[in-house]
Amino acid sequence: MCLNMSMTDQPIYLDYHATTPLDPRVREVLLSAYDEGLGNPHSTSHSAGWRAHEAVEAARLEVAKLIGARAHEIIFTSGASEANNLAILGACRERGAGHIVTSAIEHPSVLEACRHLAEHEDFSLDVVPVNEDGIVDLSKLKAVFRPQTILVSIMLANNEIGTLQPGKKIGAIAHEADVLYHADATQAIGRIEVDVTEINAALMSISGHKIHGPMGVGALFIRSGTMIEPLVHGGSQEAGIRPGTVPTPLVAAFGEACRIARVEGFDEQKRIGGLRDRLLAGLQAKIPDLEVNGSMAHRLACNLNVSLPGVRAEQILLKCPGIAASTGAACATGSQKPSHVLKALGLAPEQIDGAIRFGLGRFTTQDEIDVAIEAIMQAYESIT
Ligand code: PMP
Repeated sequence: MCLNMSMTDQPIYLDYHATTPLDPRVREVLLSAYDEGLGNPHSTSHSAGWRAHEAVEAARLEVAKLIGARAHEIIFTSGASEANNLAILGACRERGAGHIVTSAIEHPSVLEACRHLAEHEDFSLDVVPVNEDGIVDLSKLKAVFRPQTILVSIMLANNEIGTLQPGKKIGAIAHEADVLYHADATQAIGRIEVDVTEINAALMSISGHKIHGPMGVGALFIRSGTMIEPLVHGGSQEAGIRPGTVPTPLVAAFGEACRIARVEGFDEQKRIGGLRDRLLAGLQAKIPDLEVNGSMAHRLACNLNVSLPGVRAEQILLKCPGIAASTGAACATGSQKPSHVLKALGLAPEQIDGAIRFGLGRFTTQDEIDVAIEAIMQAYESIT
C-alpha cells in the first residue's frame, strides 16, 4: 500500500511533534488578514494601522488566556526557539552573572542557550538528569540549587517521548529559592491545561505551529515585573523587548489557534489518546518485545515513542514512505547524533537506533492508525 506512494501523495501524518497541520479556521483568519489591507500595527496615524493593532491585541489576549496570563505579559516572537533564547539569555544577562539549572532532555534551543552562557559568559550550569521514565528527579533538582542560582529552565512536555514534568512542584521549589522558573510549554499547550500562575512560572515559551497555527510565530510569557534584556536592538515594539514589526497575519492566526486550543484542545485529547493506545496495542500484538520509551502514565496523550528490537528505525521508515513518523526530533535530524533524550533515559545504542516517534493529533483517524500498524508490521517482517 504505502510502498507505491508517489511524491505528490500525502502520507499518513503521524509527526505532530515536529509540526501540526494548519487548522482550516486558522487558515481563514491568516488569509483574510492578508486580504483585508491591514497596515503596520505600529502605524498610529491611519485606520489601516489601527485595525492591524486591534488584530494584534485581540490575538495577544487569546494567547494570554490559553496559559492563564495577562495580555501585557505576552511578547510575540518568531517561534519557541527564539522565545527560549530570549527567556534564558535575556533573563540571565539582565542579572549579569549566576548559576543556571536545566534538564538533560530539553530542546536544543534551551540546552544550547544555557551552554552558551556557561561557556562564553559569566554563568555556571547544572544539567540535571531524568529517571528511566523520562521525569526530572526533584531531589536531584533541589540538590543543585545554590544561593547563586538565578534561573531554572525545565520543559512541561517533551517533544520526543511526550513525558510530562511536575511543573507545579518545580515552580514551588523555584519560588521557595527565589529563582526564576522558565517553562518551555511548546509541546504542552493545547494538550494539557497550562496555567502560569498555578505553576509559578516567571517565563514561558510557546509556538504557533505546534497548535495548528502558522510557522514563524510564537510567544514568550514574561511575568509582570520580570526584567529581560532584549536580544535584538531596535524600536519600541513589544515593549522594546522584541523590536521589529509584529507580523499581523501570523499573530492573528496564532491567536485563533490559541482560541481553538483553549475551547477544544483538551476534549480532543481523549479521542487522540484512544488512537495512540490503539497504535501501541496493534504494534505490541505483532512485536511483543517492543519497548515503550518513557513513562506511559505521565505522558501526552498524542505521543508514542517505541523501540523496535533488532532493526534500525530508519530502515523501517524508509520502507514506509506512506507514513510520516520520525526517528527523533525534527530539529536534530540530519545531525546523525543519537537522541540526547533517549540517551538520558539510559537506553542502549541499539534501543536508540530502533526508536520511532509517533505524534498523533486533531486530524488523525482510526483508519490511518490501522493502515500505519499494518505498514510498519510489513516493513518489520521484511527486515527481520
Ligand atoms: N521547544 C520544544 C519542546 C519543541 O518541541 C520545539 C519545536 N520542535 C521548540 C522548542 C522550537 O519551536 P520553534 O519551531 O517554534 O522554534
